[in-house]
Amino acid sequence: MIWIFLGAPGAGKGTQAERLQRDFGFVQVSTGELLREAMRAGTELGNRVQGYITRGELVPDDLVAGVLIERLTWGETGNGVILDGFPRTVRQAEILEQILAKHCWQLCAVLYLDVPEEVVLLRLGGRRNCPQCGANYHVVALPPKVAGRCDRCGGELVVRPDDTPEAIRKRLEVFHQQTEPLVAFYSGKRLLERIDASGEVDEVYQAVKSVVSRRWRQCLAEG
Ligand code: AMP
Repeated sequence: MIWIFLGAPGAGKGTQAERLQRDFGFVQVSTGELLREAMRAGTELGNRVQGYITRGELVPDDLVAGVLIERLTWGETGNGVILDGFPRTVRQAEILEQILAKHCWQLCAVLYLDVPEEVVLLRLGGRRNCPQCGANYHVVALPPKVAGRCDRCGGELVVRPDDTPEAIRKRLEVFHQQTEPLVAFYSGKRLLERIDASGEVDEVYQAVKSVVSRRWRQCLAEG
């Protein structure tokens, strides 16, 4: 079973996906995190994608799709997989349909975390990331227990290179132009669940959880 998180940068996709992973036994697959991992490891892929990521642009579809297919084929899938950050273009959504059909995987729902742009800007400004394990924090809304240190692995928290004002502007522009059309794409397939994600993390999670519980039952019944 596959779940998709759709939303602007800073909408809370990673944070909400982490909670679902904990409570439902799903596995979160973040294409952004897989690409950052490749950059940290200094692989050929990492070197190829670094420029796109730092500028806040999308990495070409075939490169991201390759990473995703490898991860889905060989990695843990738990009770289901949450795709955090894929698809980001209609072309990627079409590639995903082919992957799902090939493996007989079912897309249960697309959770669209809807947030006004001013909230996104506030969130991204305070975001901190653990380069060791990928966990995300926020200096005000989701602080770590020890300032500057990851709760999960003790790694030193950093500001992501694409959380600079210039890259944030670019990522929002890319979201409106290339990713937002997916809202209509998945609405047309009756898979879209719009969730108001402008509130506190816990409040948004209650809404996410209730949608997932309902859709999960539906998905199991459809088998
Ligand atoms: P994220 O961690 O989801 O915010 O992704 C960080 C960056 O990784 C994005 O700004 C893109 O440069 C790249 N990226 C992640 N997922 C995709 C995708 N599905 N398609 C293209 N680029 C992506």
